[in-house]
Amino acid sequence: MRIEKIIKNKPYIIAGPCSCESEDQVLQIAKEIKNITDVFRAGIWKPRTKPSSFEGVGERGLKWLQRVKKETSLKVATEVANAKHIEKCLEAEIDMIWIGARTTVNPFYVQEIAESLKGVNIPVFVKNPIHPELGLWIGALERLNKAGIHKLIAIHRGFFSYEKATFRNDPKWEMPIKLREEVSDIPIICDPSHISGDSNMIAEISQTAMDLNFDGLMIETHNLPKNALSDKNQQVTPKALNKIVSNLLLRIAVIEDKILNVELKKFRTDIDNLDKMMVKLLSRRKEIVEEIAYFKNKNQISIFQLERWFEILRSRRRDAFDLGMNEKMIKEIFTLIHKYSIIIQTEIMKNANEKKLENKESK
Ligand code: PEP
Ligand code: MN
Repeated sequence: MRIEKIIKNKPYIIAGPCSCESEDQVLQIAKEIKNITDVFRAGIWKPRTKPSSFEGVGERGLKWLQRVKKETSLKVATEVANAKHIEKCLEAEIDMIWIGARTTVNPFYVQEIAESLKGVNIPVFVKNPIHPELGLWIGALERLNKAGIHKLIAIHRGFFSYEKATFRNDPKWEMPIKLREEVSDIPIICDPSHISGDSNMIAEISQTAMDLNFDGLMIETHNLPKNALSDKNQQVTPKALNKIVSNLLLRIAVIEDKILNVELKKFRTDIDNLDKMMVKLLSRRKEIVEEIAYFKNKNQISIFQLERWFEILRSRRRDAFDLGMNEKMIKEIFTLIHKYSIIIQTEIMKNANEKKLENKESK
């Protein structure tokens, strides 16, 4: 993908209310955050899960965004979901647009948007699709890129999950990391507002994003969050936004200091050695798994015994607990190891059975 850089200084901040509610509201917020944010965001067409929710002020909000632009010199951005929205945004000279999570999931919509942007060189932010499917996220970026849109930014806003214990949308940090591996030069911005659903968690998630070397943040900001017409629990005030942004610790990703580099290298060597040991241990374990398979085959014992599996899980988790490790992580690792153990044993038994049959037939 050919990506044109638009971010000069990190963290790139996009802030503003979830929804444009009135001319006064957007102007007031924009004036209060104009020195903190690079871009002013506000949704005018709001894709809501249920039709009874506030669905945005529509087209008339574009005029209010124009005023924000004129009076604060901020760049303004809003969400689009179809060709008509784009036409209206271009007429109103909106500087940047974003594609929401509910639109990224649909290649038809994304294609329509890409085609209606042909020949227009405005920056487009692409939110991750609602469900954790990297292909759709990359696919949307590719569709836009193919239509000649090079100023692309990916926005990580978390993923729908049935377990809503901590987050409104599960961050699944491995997904934006994978995106970075596959499309290396695309800037990625974190949206802690939609990830958390909670204004008290914005600072912490923003810091995690910085530690993972994200390029910026999109933070929903409202003058009176408790009265907001959408997403009221997750919006912060301009004052809180200021505090969150100025308290961010920006750690370095590329280390130029030689001494630091040497020390880091020592840690990494230790890790490399431990990883080598783990691979060796797993290979030794695999040899035993193979021996077990032949043994079970000879003695006509089934591959899988539920009780044995429960016992493995119980004891490994107990060991993890004793060592102060995350039990869930250990459980996941052993589930994977066990899965491959079953695959290896099944393959051996299958081959042994085939041999037996062949021998029978040739007699
Ligand atoms: C928004 O940014 O207000 C929004 C609707 O976000 P998402 O598409 O991430 O749900
Ligand atoms: Mn919102």
